[in-house]
Amino acid sequence: MTDNYLFFFGRYQRPFLYTLQTAHGQWAVREGLIIQLIDEAGSSYWGEIAPIPWFGSESLEEAIEFCTSLGNTVSWPMEIPEQLPATQFAFSAAIPYGYEPLEPVMEDVNWSFLLPANEKVLEAWQRPWELGHRTFKWKIGVAEIAEELEIFNRLLTALPKGAKLRLDANAGLSYEDACTWLSSLPLGAIEFLEQPVASLTEMLRLAERFEIPLAVDELASNLGRLQNCYEQGWRGIYVIKPSIAGSLEGLSAFIQERQLDVVLSSSLESSIGQTAILRWAAEQKVIDRSAGLATSNWFA
Ligand SMILES: [Mg+2]
Repeated sequence: MTDNYLFFFGRYQRPFLYTLQTAHGQWAVREGLIIQLIDEAGSSYWGEIAPIPWFGSESLEEAIEFCTSLGNTVSWPMEIPEQLPATQFAFSAAIPYGYEPLEPVMEDVNWSFLLPANEKVLEAWQRPWELGHRTFKWKIGVAEIAEELEIFNRLLTALPKGAKLRLDANAGLSYEDACTWLSSLPLGAIEFLEQPVASLTEMLRLAERFEIPLAVDELASNLGRLQNCYEQGWRGIYVIKPSIAGSLEGLSAFIQERQLDVVLSSSLESSIGQTAILRWAAEQKVIDRSAGLATSNWFA
């Protein structure tokens, strides 16, 4: 059954408090679109298009072009091209999960806290620790490996018992550097290392060679890529950014049928996108590990 909705969209820009440094470069402002669908009874459903083009999603301009082409009314369900996964997410989430009020469901979610790169990390965990955060994530592959290993060891010593640490290289390490990291890490020191290298073949080789749990992220950034990892034999952890992964229905089915070990991750979307993701995750029971979504502290 299709229903007709009035359709509006608007562009937003949110500057980060700190410029985000990742192995992909610097990121200072989150830009995206908020969509609104209004049904015949006058109820509103909200969605968010939060693209990350270097992660395999469409660009903001492509999303705007598509939304503009729709005009002022849409019928849902409708076809959205596969090359627009962030747009597919926004529409697939709006009606089932974008109803008001848009307050994220917090119960049962342990947030993971994104720490800043470099030496700032040594102090940056303290405040969130006091606020009750126990899972932290730190980006590596940003500076020289020797320097990062040194900071990492100081961080390990500083973190209280009970803290969980995840490392994320954003596919930025060479195979050799990945091996250096993995052989330097004491077993049990981290929860997992996220996407040390770019190639799936090398990820599979690392998983065979080292016991430290590994996660694919960039390689699994949308449903097609996720399927490919699975088919090529990846049985480690999958980091999933629902905001850019395509339609939520397809994603739920794939995760559940194969019982994947999943970590939900933020695309640094606003509370509109987060609310939808958390409502979806709670309904579909896809969260076992802490969700990597505690990022509102990154915005003014
Ligand atoms: Mg990652």
